[in-house]
Amino acid sequence: MSLIRLQSFAEGHWLAGDGAGSLLVSAIDASPVAEITSRGLDFAGMMRFARAKGGPALRRLTFHERASLLKAVAQALTARKDELYALSALTGATRADSWIDIDGGIGTLFVYASKGKRELPNETFLIDGAVEGLSKNGTFLGQHIYVPREGVAVQINAYNFPVWGMLEKLGPSILAGLPVIAKPASATAWLAEKAARIIIESGVLPEGAFQFIAGSTGDLFEHLTSQDHVAFTGSLATSTALQAHPVILKNAVHFTAERDSLNCSILGPDAVPGTPEFDLFIKEVAKEMGTKAGQKCTAIRRIIVPAAEADAVANALSKRLASLAIGDPRAETTRMGPLASLAQRADVRAQIARLQEECDILFGTPDRLDLPGLDTEKGAFLSPVLLAARDSRAAERPHDTEAFGPVATLLTYRDLDDAIGLARKGDGSLAGSLVTADAQIAREVVFGAGAFHGRLLLLDAECAAESTGHGSPMPHLVHGGPGRAGGGEELGGMRAVHHQMQRVALQGSPAFLTAITKSYVKGTPEPAAPAHPFRIPFEDLVPGQSFHSPERVISLGDIEHFAHFTGDTFYAHMDEEAVKGHPFFPGRVAHGYLLLSFAAGLFVEPERGPVLANYGLDNLRFLKPVSPGETIRVRLTVKSKSPRNTDYGEVRWDVEIRTGAGDTAATYELLTMNAYREAS
Ligand code: NDP
Repeated sequence: MSLIRLQSFAEGHWLAGDGAGSLLVSAIDASPVAEITSRGLDFAGMMRFARAKGGPALRRLTFHERASLLKAVAQALTARKDELYALSALTGATRADSWIDIDGGIGTLFVYASKGKRELPNETFLIDGAVEGLSKNGTFLGQHIYVPREGVAVQINAYNFPVWGMLEKLGPSILAGLPVIAKPASATAWLAEKAARIIIESGVLPEGAFQFIAGSTGDLFEHLTSQDHVAFTGSLATSTALQAHPVILKNAVHFTAERDSLNCSILGPDAVPGTPEFDLFIKEVAKEMGTKAGQKCTAIRRIIVPAAEADAVANALSKRLASLAIGDPRAETTRMGPLASLAQRADVRAQIARLQEECDILFGTPDRLDLPGLDTEKGAFLSPVLLAARDSRAAERPHDTEAFGPVATLLTYRDLDDAIGLARKGDGSLAGSLVTADAQIAREVVFGAGAFHGRLLLLDAECAAESTGHGSPMPHLVHGGPGRAGGGEELGGMRAVHHQMQRVALQGSPAFLTAITKSYVKGTPEPAAPAHPFRIPFEDLVPGQSFHSPERVISLGDIEHFAHFTGDTFYAHMDEEAVKGHPFFPGRVAHGYLLLSFAAGLFVEPERGPVLANYGLDNLRFLKPVSPGETIRVRLTVKSKSPRNTDYGEVRWDVEIRTGAGDTAATYELLTMNAYREAS
């Protein structure tokens, strides 16, 4: 294979960098693969370009439009993923490892595209939480909103997942409206560069929304401002150094880190040999050690087991590790390939030596591995290594030393408190797991060690078949962890998007808040409605437009009829004697659902019109019971609206049921799908 000269994509052009680059070699046999340098790049120019072009272009789009971009990028990558697989093996990845990296990365984009459409409004900003009452008469209120930051997302990735690492960061940033400058780790950058080329060549993202650095970041950090966001994955040492950069400190630049994490897996005291959970535990730990040759930020490093089961666990794990097919990652039968580079192998060996200060090797030969037909001096192959702490209570190395390879250490515990204490000693992890059949044990571990983890997998026989496993970060769930793990929250559905936007607390009158948020706030003067709002096409509905129904009496006969018709003969509606002395009800009262039904009867405009369907009801509260003989009336107000597709949009209605005495009996938000003008 001829040497690839890697290029950066800066200010709309692919640039190879000046002069000779650093040589990047295959993990399999150290043969040259690529050359890399970012020398000569104008990093200040890249930041300016992102701010001037990419940022404004993204901010003009709504969340739904940005989500569509992500989907199109994911589709473009899917169409050309064979090109990525072809380059992936040279990083040491087996086909299964590459699937996690490539298909896993693309899948993450698809999830963000879909969640963005379903969970965010078709708007450019987000409302955060409820209106806060700040005054006696309701003329002065508070409301939080999220607006896009006007900066750049600088994303520095680790070498272990060149594609997934770039895409899992790209998704939330683009949704948040931030243009991205991605910088992969050099060691495996040829794969990230190919993915970047596919993204650029797809032409999906607006100009300036995505730039790519092959090589070092030069003086880029000098040009960061308070509006920028740096997301880093890699070592604790680099993260600490970057976080302490004077510009980051002075400008309070948002900085999130995913870094060393000494993830643990606990075998529950109930999961003794012979139980399905014991077998699941062995399988999970062995899988985590072998997948990606243990170069996973979430891999299990600390194996915490009851002292009585230590031998059984060691034997079962050793047996599994002995049968692990190590070899050329391009071979179909290979289950574990080499580490990403010889430098990484040297580092892992050094960390194993450090662990050996307090631990013995139970399985594996860190210094030697013979593989037929492979030069294991030139290829970064390493035997899996299982260690055991000589004194699990006193040992510190397993809790402070990350050997980023197929390496894990066995620690034993006396009782569950002891196990929890060991789990906490990692000082903050991305992921932990517990394998048990006992929900009470799970509860104790969650509340005992939860504060030290970003994610906890609770594995038992019931969920095992469908479990995504200890080591797989899911786009829906938080990926990040406290303390040593960096304190970040990179994924986690829309949480990751919120982190990259600016939350602003607004204070003002109801009318101003309604006008700004396009969501009706109580107290806003009511705009005139030319007709019943159910007859007004989607485009013409204005938040605040209302329909005020006539009154209706609720009779005892209505309550009796409703009770027998529906079968809801609860005593509070039916039995005057039984309800005597009730803390809430003065006597028999109307069913809450009767009120809702009568409310619909009062506000519905029956003729066919723009309203296509009622599809839900949010935030229902029954506030005051209604007694037989009382009257009710309803206010139906357009709260907000959000286009959904080319045919219809969603309308959220604020509904209030009031009694004749002027009390609020119930409030809720009704959701309808409304047709656009043409269609209605
Ligand atoms: P590094 O911290 O060395 O590198 C991570 C990223 O930071 C790379 O893209 C690297 O670029 C970049 N970088 C390094 N120095 C600077 C700098 N001064 N300014 C800007 N960017 C910089 O980690 P590695 O990827 O080499 O992995 C080393 C160790 O990190 C592993 O052995 C493991 O212990 C840990 N690690 C932890 C992970 C986690 O999520 N927990 C994931 C991966 C690794 P370049 O490659 O060009 O130097």
